[in-house]
Amino acid sequence: MIVVMKQGASEEEVRHVSRRVESLGLKAHVIVGTERTVIAAIGEKRETDKEAMENCPGVSEVMPILAPFKVASREVKDETTVVTAGSLSVGGRRVGVIAGPCSVENEEQLVSTAKAVKAAGATALRGGAFKPRTSPYSFQGLKEEGLKILSTAREETGLAIVTEVVAPDDVSLVARYADVLQIGARNMQNYRLLEAVGGCGRAVLLKRGPSATMDELLLAAEYILNEGNPNVMLCERGIRTFESHTRFTLPLASVAYLHAKTHLPVVVDPSHGTGHSYLVPQMACASVAAGADGLIIEVHPNPEEALSDGYQSLSFTQFEETIQLCRKVAVALDREL
Ligand code: PEP
Ligand code: MN
Repeated sequence: MIVVMKQGASEEEVRHVSRRVESLGLKAHVIVGTERTVIAAIGEKRETDKEAMENCPGVSEVMPILAPFKVASREVKDETTVVTAGSLSVGGRRVGVIAGPCSVENEEQLVSTAKAVKAAGATALRGGAFKPRTSPYSFQGLKEEGLKILSTAREETGLAIVTEVVAPDDVSLVARYADVLQIGARNMQNYRLLEAVGGCGRAVLLKRGPSATMDELLLAAEYILNEGNPNVMLCERGIRTFESHTRFTLPLASVAYLHAKTHLPVVVDPSHGTGHSYLVPQMACASVAAGADGLIIEVHPNPEEALSDGYQSLSFTQFEETIQLCRKVAVALDREL
């Protein structure tokens, strides 16, 4: 259930309600909004709990939560969450742009990409150091050496670093170097990993599993939020369908759907979502038109020679052109990019 506090309820009243919630064996999750504070009481609900809570000082209303996901729900928090991590801000008027190679290959490749994407308007740098590859024989990433190269690129450009973590044991290592930890599509339902990033103190980019439903995505986010980490961005990166002309099928209705159901900001990945560089510019624009809070786009100095995902990576020029197109769409919708 959600306990909605009255406007101007005191901190002591909020603390009192939280203690009452916890004394009922429920977990109290305090969400401070601009208008008022709400307390999400997580756990099995009983009718008597609602009545007990309604009488507490400072309480305006007690409501049952209808969605299966609780802390992520718009019912709990009306304003969109703005996730900020260094130079990256996602969820506000300005569209966040995360760009960079699929994998970190070497310093020259990464630093040149960081400079080019920053000049074109990117607000964060992506690059995988730990790569979850379908085949064990494919390039697996440079691991800690890759993380060091990412932090060099941050020193040179000031761009926040977004990089994937694939195992709970690696979370503290990756969190030492990165500003945002990416949970890849293959790991969306790796619950121990979700809990680990929930406690790491860094923002998280949670990618949708290729066959996960929206509810499953939101419940996965709930694992992270429940550990006390409010800085979660959801990422639509395409799903598996009968269609084979694209690598995945990119359903942009999920942006509008997620905006209706959750306060978490939504990022779209048109690179993995299409799997073809020639489709990326239009789908990036379409994502902005659908209201995406951010984009994540693969860019490589020489896509032909990329060690992973070259066929869907943009060159520097293509990225710059894509951003210019997206900016026109953003401005038309009273956004910035
Ligand atoms: C990636 O971002 O390079 C990646 C592996 O993405 P996904 O997990 O969406 O396949
Ligand atoms: Mn990739």
